[in-house]
Amino acid sequence: MRQVTLAHEVDWETWRTNARTLALDNIPPEQTLWSVGQPDDLFADAPAPPSAEAPKGTFTVPRALVTLAETAIQHSDPERFALLYGLVWRAHAGEKHILELTSDPDVQRVNRLAQSVRRDTHKMHAFVRFREVPEPEGTRHVAWFEPEHYIVETNAAFFIRRFATMTWSILTPYRSIHWNGEAIHFDRGATRADIPDDDALADYWRTYYRSIFNPARLKIGAMTSEMPKKYWRNLPEAAEIPDLIRTAAARTETMVATPTFSAPKPTRAHMHPEPTPASNPLAQAAQDIHACRRCPLWEPATQPVFGEGPADARIMFVGEQPGDQEDLAGRPFVGPAGQLFDRAMQEAGLDRQQVYVTNSVKHFKFVPRGKRRIHEKPGVTEIKACNVWLDIERQQIRPALTVMMGATAARAVTGRAVAITKERGHAMPLPMSDGSNAQGYITVHPSYLLRLPDEESKAREYALFIQDLRNIAALVA
Ligand code: URA
Repeated sequence: MRQVTLAHEVDWETWRTNARTLALDNIPPEQTLWSVGQPDDLFADAPAPPSAEAPKGTFTVPRALVTLAETAIQHSDPERFALLYGLVWRAHAGEKHILELTSDPDVQRVNRLAQSVRRDTHKMHAFVRFREVPEPEGTRHVAWFEPEHYIVETNAAFFIRRFATMTWSILTPYRSIHWNGEAIHFDRGATRADIPDDDALADYWRTYYRSIFNPARLKIGAMTSEMPKKYWRNLPEAAEIPDLIRTAAARTETMVATPTFSAPKPTRAHMHPEPTPASNPLAQAAQDIHACRRCPLWEPATQPVFGEGPADARIMFVGEQPGDQEDLAGRPFVGPAGQLFDRAMQEAGLDRQQVYVTNSVKHFKFVPRGKRRIHEKPGVTEIKACNVWLDIERQQIRPALTVMMGATAARAVTGRAVAITKERGHAMPLPMSDGSNAQGYITVHPSYLLRLPDEESKAREYALFIQDLRNIAALVA
């Protein structure tokens, strides 16, 4: 029997070096014993040195297996180390296409572990809430989070990128991360009592949640699946939920007659998803996009923001990319540009509930500045990388009219650079990929109206935007 002791729960380097050595030494999985050292051994900031000697011989396993193992090793299942070594052993022994054996029980089990880790990661990105704690050197932002798996170490980089210039700590039951703006320090776990109870940031989250909550779209099932109840006690805004649900009916003037498509939570994920053939390709794409790695924007973003609206909408509005608030809410056009859009739609006699609203690029591109995330325009490569998702939305919704709001949308839909001022304001032929008839219409992006420097140009441009929306309504009447 060969015994391997890992320094901690996600000691990937030691696991990988030993898996390689054991496979080269021809040690079958049933003759291995994997364990994790005592918690007292923890908290060396440098990774523990590999416990095995440098292996000799040729060792190759598929890259996809290494990537899958890197994710699955973060799972809390104590059998994961042996299970993963079992796959490595088989791949090394000649089963090079082992991951394609989708009915193999071990392959299935490892995929389930990885999927659960990805879901936990997504929740951590979305539900970490900082509270302000005064310190002699300034303010520290402290968050408490209870992950299901050992995901803290792997996700430290995400939070460093996202809150690079803040001083913060994320405390979890098994491990804590401290960032001082320059260096990262891992420490032992903490308890919820280690963070203060209430403060201004918690108020901010409560107000924000109230402002994006749309009573007409209340779906308690979907809401509790996206924001499971177990996270509520650590989310300041969750205190608002019972009251918002109770008063939703009264606050809703009209209910939507047509069934509305909204993205379900992800259940399937792999690293470079091709859209999967499915009975409901739109719903499938809304799941697959959570695993999209076609461009680097997925990493610092909280989540992808898929389009939403009735599956039989006659008009599809395409914007640029989610902004800060859309990135947090997971829904398009809910921030300042969205509010202007809603107001203009109403004034033009269009009902947002009857149209499909989406973006050219589905992840928020930004640069961090202090506590803020500053919007950055997506480039052509990102627009092209994301086109696959927009194509699915157009093919499935098959809108009679696709409205391109701004230059990014016009490029994403037409595939060429468009001068908005020259081409806005009239219908253009925009056949579907199967050659069937459809039309396009170019107008400005609502954010453009928000950025105008003076009241006079704001009023003039807003009136032109309303005129475009009225033209749009007339085209599908
Ligand atoms: N701007 C966009 O283009 N889309 C959004 O969803 C929000 C702002």
